[in-house]
Amino acid sequence: MNILVINCGSSSLKYQLIDMNGEKVLAKGLVERIGIEGSRIKHDTTGKERVIIEEPMKDHKRALELVLEAIIDEKYGAIKSMDEIGAVGHRVVHGGEDFANSVIIDEEVMAALERNIDLAPLHNPPNIMGIEACQELMPDTPMVAVFDTAFHQTIPADNYIYPLPYEYYEKYKIRRYGFHGTSHKYVSQRAAEILGKDIKDLKIVTAHLGNGSSVTAVKGGKSIDTSMGFTPLEGLTMGTRSGDIDPAIIPFLMEKEGLTFEEVNNMLNKKSGVLGISGVSSDFRDLEIAAEEGNERAKLALDIFANRVRKYIAAYAAQMCGIDVLVFTAGIGENSASMRELICNGLEFLNIVIDKELNNVRGEEAIVSKNIGGVTIMVIPTNEELMIARDTLELVQNR
Ligand code: ADP
Repeated sequence: MNILVINCGSSSLKYQLIDMNGEKVLAKGLVERIGIEGSRIKHDTTGKERVIIEEPMKDHKRALELVLEAIIDEKYGAIKSMDEIGAVGHRVVHGGEDFANSVIIDEEVMAALERNIDLAPLHNPPNIMGIEACQELMPDTPMVAVFDTAFHQTIPADNYIYPLPYEYYEKYKIRRYGFHGTSHKYVSQRAAEILGKDIKDLKIVTAHLGNGSSVTAVKGGKSIDTSMGFTPLEGLTMGTRSGDIDPAIIPFLMEKEGLTFEEVNNMLNKKSGVLGISGVSSDFRDLEIAAEEGNERAKLALDIFANRVRKYIAAYAAQMCGIDVLVFTAGIGENSASMRELICNGLEFLNIVIDKELNNVRGEEAIVSKNIGGVTIMVIPTNEELMIARDTLELVQNR
């Protein structure tokens, strides 16, 4: 069966068409600037040259129409007709407490997604728009929702309840949800597969380090704690997000600088993290170059980032009473050998010992620990699209 995977942002749409017979990517692409001047699609069919389609796209429905046309185009398409798409898997950011697993989309599911808009006001509305557009264009094709939060629904209450008045959990569902769940699930399962072990027997810490970053403790295949919380702002120091800070800084700054709630929110999400510390960039490639050239604040930003990741790894090893595997994934985790080394330096007491030579890899699956019977350190490129397609196939086949 061919499965179309859709990931809708507010003005963007990423897609992949995967043939599940062999899990081969047939086509993929990115739509940018939906609803803004300069809309375009970068479309790649495997084995053919990239095409760029520049056409006005006033909304997600028009964008999807053009994506479907591109997929079945005689010249640069991947399949002959839309009938060859057996199901659609949609990435949805927030499932709240309603979804601990992926689900076939029906009216009840759509109502629950609407209910959860409050929890993810920036992310869920475009996800919903993408689903509705697909339903209009492919009314007879089954659709599945795969949630970023679902994998973390196994986290126990002593890790997800915040130390605030309990009524706020009851009234507003304020609790830790966690994100990047599809990625943490994929790399932890893949780690067990590569090692030829049953995931039920493993204590794994997964470090998803990209523009947004989070670390998860995966015990016996289940998420038991994760560093992002009620929103993706908690936890690690990120590209532009602060991660953990003393909450008292917020009212202090609001008073001193005369900031509004919106301004503070913007500062914490867009101007903080390694960008805020360094004043150079949120991109780790720029920071590594600047640090090499002697920029002290760029070096400080990298040290703070590594320090936070290190603290979470050690904390999660404690949560699980041990650690067998440490996995690095996403943009930084997959590509930056120097950041992986910096993070592991100081974790030798946990038997986490990185091998400099083996660690000299980028964007490929590898074991990078010293072979001394300690923790297995792995680099595993994430593949959220494949995970979404697998869940979609399973649900559609077992309907
Ligand atoms: P997103 O969260 O948007 O999916 P990615 O997982 O693609 O992000 O990660 C993007 C980040 O990865 C970039 O901002 C950059 O900091 C980092 N990155 C990518 N390649 C490298 C590299 N070779 N060295 C260091 N950092 C890198």
